Amino acid sequence: MEREHFDIFISGGGLAGLIATCAFAAKGFSVLCVDPTPPVTNNADPLADRRSTAFLQPARTTLEAAGIWPRLDAHAEALQIMRLADAGGVENEIRYVADFDASDVSDLPFGWNFPNWLLRRELMAQIETLTNASFRAGVGTKRVLTRNAQALVTLSDGTAIGADLIIAADGRNSPIRDMAGIGAQTWRYGQKGMVFTVSHPIPHENVSTEIHRTGGPFTLVPLPDHEGTPQSAIVWMETGSEAARLMALSDVEFATEASARSCNVLGPLTLTSKRAAWPIISQKADRLTAERTALIAEAAHVMPPIGAQGLNMSLADIQTLLDLSLDHPLGSESMLKAYEMARKADVSIRLQGVDLLNRASLGSGPNLRALRLKGLQFLHGSVTARKFAMRAGLGV
Ligand SMILES: Cc1cc2nc3c(=O)[nH]c(=O)nc-3n(C[C@H](O)[C@H](O)[C@H](O)COP(=O)(O)OP(=O)(O)OC[C@H]3O[C@@H](n4cnc5c(N)ncnc54)[C@H](O)[C@@H]3O)c2cc1C
Repeated sequence: MEREHFDIFISGGGLAGLIATCAFAAKGFSVLCVDPTPPVTNNADPLADRRSTAFLQPARTTLEAAGIWPRLDAHAEALQIMRLADAGGVENEIRYVADFDASDVSDLPFGWNFPNWLLRRELMAQIETLTNASFRAGVGTKRVLTRNAQALVTLSDGTAIGADLIIAADGRNSPIRDMAGIGAQTWRYGQKGMVFTVSHPIPHENVSTEIHRTGGPFTLVPLPDHEGTPQSAIVWMETGSEAARLMALSDVEFATEASARSCNVLGPLTLTSKRAAWPIISQKADRLTAERTALIAEAAHVMPPIGAQGLNMSLADIQTLLDLSLDHPLGSESMLKAYEMARKADVSIRLQGVDLLNRASLGSGPNLRALRLKGLQFLHGSVTARKFAMRAGLGV
């Protein structure tokens, strides 16, 4: 059977796979990306991804070089202030507020927020303009055989592909990771993250607010106005049983509970989207590479949605591979070894940091709550610690 050859084969057309497709094509590589599920690019579709993504400063540099940023610019909502609030145990009452202002460490905002369905729409539009990259929906990766010289991939429709480098962007249950025999450690929290968008009478003024309380954080992230009214994306983390109770409520009852849980910081909330609930886990692949193969994004690391780390780390994976492709033969042992070295420590440190923050927020004991408050007061009160935390969160 005739075999098609590409410089890079990308398994998985989630946000990470689609961004990687544009980024490597912009560098002149030939790229094929496949996904059994076509991306949903319309907000009205019941299957649309209700999450939003806050791209932090370093991500913008990668998106600009990939030619994607000009498509996103008009839809960007800036995040100027990260506000961390502590609401103690089960009361909806804020007892401490810490503002982290991007102007303390940079001339730019921390980042820019976008609905995920819109990102998919713009990424697909960009891929359609590329002559050296293509995306095939409805087919998946079925078999992989790697050789020193190249990787051989069989797709679910029987097509045979050859590639110098395979990028596994096929999610937390990555088939490529399994085929490469790479294990993964998983931590479960018994928690769900409910995602939806809301309008509210009080403008968000480009402040992203994370309210910590037993059960997990409730985060309001600025979005552009909805029909002339201020709008935010919400991630509301709760224990599985509480999330199930809340998801069973009517929209009006749910909005009333969400308003109370938000401590009414933006006034009463009105739903502007459907709701979805995501299981919250942390996961780390035992290795980031195999012969001719690099794991990126959720195939390599999954973490709770705190501090907008998830997809931003995935962009750091992509940027690292792009940089290494300049100095090493594509997909070579030296390139993959350098990728493992470059990303391993950052992935571990960020996973541990976010895990700790989530456990501190989830916990209900009075000692843990007191410790959480003291930690926040220290981080905010010391100028050195505050600036260090902001730079570390940004990944600069
Ligand atoms: C509630 C929530 C809120 C979040 N908020 C943020 C945020 O604000 N900022 C941030 O940076 N991150 C955030 N994240 C994380 C971010 O959403 C994820 O990192 C990102 O969406 C995962 O992208 P991915 O492309 O790795 O995986 P996925 O989106 O899971 O994509 C994997 C793709 O692989 C495909 N696939 C599966 N099997 C095969 C196969 N055999 N062959 C080919 N393809 C296959 C799947 O169909 C899928 O489309 C959040 C996560 C959650 C849960």
